[in-house]
Order: sequence, then structure tokens, then C-alpha cells
Amino acid sequence: MTQYNYDLFVIGAGSGGMRTARMAADYGVKVAIAEERYLGGTCVNVGCVPKKLLAYASQFKDHFHAAAGFGWTVGKSTFSWPSLIANKNQEIGRLQAVYGNQLQQSGAEIITGRAQLFDAHTVVVDGKKYSAERIVIATGGWPSVPDMSGKQHIVTSNEMFFLNKLPKSIIIVGGGYIAVEFASILDSFGVRTTLCYRGHKLLRGFDEDVGDFLAHEMIRKGINVRLNTDIEAIESTADCFTARLIDGSRVKTDLIMYATGRLPNSTGFGLKALGVELDIDGAIKVNADYQTNIPSIYALGDVTNRVNLTPVALAEATALVNKLYGDQSRAVDYDNIPTAVFCQPNIGTVGLTEAQARERYPDIDVYKTRFTPMKNTLSGMDEKSLIKMIVVRSSDRVVGIHMIGPDAPEIIQGMAIAIRAGATKAVFDSTIGVHPTAAEEFVSLREAVT
Ligand code: FAD
Ligand code: NDP
Repeated sequence: MTQYNYDLFVIGAGSGGMRTARMAADYGVKVAIAEERYLGGTCVNVGCVPKKLLAYASQFKDHFHAAAGFGWTVGKSTFSWPSLIANKNQEIGRLQAVYGNQLQQSGAEIITGRAQLFDAHTVVVDGKKYSAERIVIATGGWPSVPDMSGKQHIVTSNEMFFLNKLPKSIIIVGGGYIAVEFASILDSFGVRTTLCYRGHKLLRGFDEDVGDFLAHEMIRKGINVRLNTDIEAIESTADCFTARLIDGSRVKTDLIMYATGRLPNSTGFGLKALGVELDIDGAIKVNADYQTNIPSIYALGDVTNRVNLTPVALAEATALVNKLYGDQSRAVDYDNIPTAVFCQPNIGTVGLTEAQARERYPDIDVYKTRFTPMKNTLSGMDEKSLIKMIVVRSSDRVVGIHMIGPDAPEIIQGMAIAIRAGATKAVFDSTIGVHPTAAEEFVSLREAVT
């Protein structure tokens, strides 16, 4: 029988890779995990975690503003970006250490460096060969920026987390998760923010009311939302950048950030030479068990470009390790995955959009309410909230829930459980509300609007 150095070699210590290595090691499997950049991967270092910390920081502007209506006199507030970034870096450093300890305690061996595939059972890191019965690729994704003249002047979310100072003005290109989250964050810090999106509705793929509502709220807050436009070229001058838009207009700005999607990290480490099949965007093709066309090689998380969210990478890792080494295996259910966008106001959503539901079912009832969150009665702020529920009339099943407003991400987690459990509108209606909350609106939706 062939003897390998390891039972399992994991490439990439992000959300998916870390979970794979730790769980497998807990099963008593001999595991190594290679990481070339940072333990914790995108989520911990340049994704969910620092983004959420920045989003928290950005909310204070509204809190200070709201305080007066509640009787508080708040002194002159100032904001220090360098302090925020230093504190954020310290917290990320703490998390990296925690992850390192957890891996070591589980018994997984951490190998620092860029891994290259040598053959179907061998990985090379810094010139040293490691053989393994199985290899899991969890190399994540990387920002993708379209080609244009002046591309060298732009930054992506990767750099935004480490800027030495805040720009006075910024153009953010894109209309997806990262673009709207950063637009909200930077606007709140007083940066003159322009959002340029090539489409006519923000957040394509979300319920259309959500995109419209968000654009309206962003404009109301002072963000310059420019739809149906794009940058054609960027010129650099001594003190700023000039973006030439497709309509021929020019916008001067201190910084230009591209948030135009991410592509799988699948090049430059031997996948092609080994014949691992990729799709047209470079995503590693896998079967339902995360196995590539090379039987000893598996892949999961963003590098497979399915649902690029941390909890999905974690769920895929759990499913794979249980399948390979455990006594139970439960496939990941890709339906009804809840998701949140940490823009202002926050968005939480689960299930079908109205358009998707109408395509799938002939009889849809839509319940919708726009309201002023109670806090805003005294705060003097005119930010509104939106709640929308999609119900299949014949079965009474709730198939989609969408919310914009404070705490929407927290609220949607519970709604996702209800939808997974198959809750009907009657179940929502018979549930006693928690008063006074925004979430009680979900159990008080009486009249369908369409
Ligand atoms: P990653 O976390 O990207 O990890 C891949 C790792 O592999 C990296 O550490 C990389 O250095 C390493 N690597 C790559 N190639 C090699 C190699 N050859 N050798 C060794 N190591 C290698 N998701 C959410 O659910 N909620 C959010 O709020 C959220 N916010 C986000 C905000 C931003 C700005 C971004 C960019 C993403 C956000 N995401 C969020 C998405 C989330 O970060 C990803 O879905 C998740 O990190 C994917 O995990 P992964 O394990 O597939 O890959
Ligand atoms: P998204 O796919 O969400 O959005 C990309 C945006 O860029 C879209 O508006 C897209 O437009 C636009 N775009 C794409 N290509 C071009 C181009 N060539 N020129 C101009 N515009 C273009 O990607 P993000 O980069 O925002 O985020 C990457 C992923 O990371 C997300 O999809 C999500 O999975 C994850 N993420 C999750 C977060 C969360 O859970 N809160 C937060 C941040 C990221 P169009 O719609 O027309 O295609």
C-alpha cells in the first residue's frame, strides 16, 4: 500500500480550508494545511470581519446625530481613521493567533508558503514535497477588475482596509455587495462618495424593491448614485484622478475603488498542468461530493464559485469531512441561504425574490410594508425600513423574505429558520409579536399588495 506523508493536505487556510483541516484532524486524520498569506483567509483579513468592524464604526455618525432627540448633548465628535485601522489590525492579529492555536491544538500541521500541485497526491511548498492521500483546494477568490486605461491607479477592497488616510472623495465602481457596503461606510466617515454602476438597479439578483429602496436611501444620505454608467478611462494628475465616464463626462476624485466582482483563485499553482477541470470563469468543477475530475483532489469554497459566502464555505467543509472521515454525511442545501448586506440601512434576505417566485409559481401574494423605525421618531432621521414577504397562495408557504432596516441581518437569521421549516403565512399570523420591535411587522402583515 502506498505510504503518504499525510492523509489530507489542505491548500488555503481561509474559512473553508481551516474548517476542513480542523475537523479532519479532530477525526484523527493526519492533516497539513498550507497558507501563503494570512491565517483565516479573506473573511478574517480583508472580508467579513474588518468590513463589519468598519461598518460598526460608520454607524456612530447617525448615533451622534440621533442622540439630541433623546435628550443627549454630544460634544464635538471627531473621527480618526488611523486609530480605527490600528485597532482593527490589532483585533485581526488576535484572531489570526486564535486560529493558529486552534489548528495546532487540533493536531493539524501548518505549512507557511505558496502550495504548488506536483501530481495528484503531491504538493510542493518552498521546494519541499509533501504527499497526501487526498488534497483539498480551498484557495478562495481575488478581486476582478476590468481592463481600462489607467487601471493601475485603482484600488480594490483589499487595499481599502489598509489606507493610511481617508480620501476626501472617492468613486466606487460596481453595484454589488462590496460596492454598496463601502459606499455606506465611506459616506458616513464624511468622504464625498460617488457610486458608479453599469446597471439600472443596485444589487442585481436581490429583490428589485430592495435595490430601488437602497438607492433611494443612499441618495437621501448624500451618496452620488450614478446608474447606467461606467468608467472608460482614468487619468492621474498631480493631486487627483480624473475618471472619464462612458457618457463623456469627467469626474475628479481622490481615489477610485473597483468592486466589480471576484474570480476564483485557480491559476499559477499547477491545476491546469494536472488537468483539473475549470469552468469558463476559472472555478474548479466539482461533483456533489466536492470531488474534481482527479479523484484524489477536492475543492470547496469561493474557488468553486457557487455561493461565495463564509457560512457556505464552512458548510461545504463540514459536509466533505463528514463524508470522507465521519459516520454521517449531510449534503449542503443551497436553497434558502440567507444573506445580509451591511450597507446603511442594513439588508437581510432569504428565499425567492418576487420575480423568481412569479417565474416558479402561478399564484403569488406579496406583502409589503414601509415604515419609520421607532428610533427615528425622536432621532429626527427620516430613514425608512422595508419589509417584504412572498407567499404562494395555494400552499400558503412563505418562500421569500426581504428586509431593509436596522438589525435586518440579525432578524433574517430567524426568518431563514422559519422558511427552512416550511412555515406558512398562517404560522406567521398565529405567532405573537415581540413589541415594540421592527420584527413584529413580520407577524402583522395583513393585506397582500399584489
Ligand atoms: P478564502 O477565505 O479566500 O481563503 C483562501 C485562502 O487560500 C487565502 O488565505 C489565500 O491566501 C490562500 N491561498 C490561495 N492560494 C494559495 C496557495 N497556492 N497556497 C497557499 N495558500 C493559498 N461573506 C459573508 O458570509 N459575510 C460577509 O459579510 C462577507 N463580507 C465580505 C467582504 C469582503 C470585502 C469580501 C472580499 C468578502 C466577503 N465575504 C463575506 C465573502 C467571504 O469572505 C468568502 O466567501 C470566504 O472567505 C470564502 O472562504 P474560502 O475558504 O473559500 O476562501
Ligand atoms: P458582486 O458580484 O456582488 O458585485 C459585482 C458588481 O460589479 C456588480 O454590480 C456587477 O454588475 C459589477 N461588475 C462586474 N463586472 C463589471 C465590469 N466589467 N464593469 C463594471 N461593473 C462590473 O461582487 P462584489 O465584488 O461586490 O463581492 C464579491 C462577492 O463577495 C459577493 O458576490 C459575495 O458573494 C461576497 N461578499 C459578501 C458580502 C456579505 O455577505 N455581506 C459582502 C461582500 C462580499 P452586474 O450586476 O451588472 O453584473
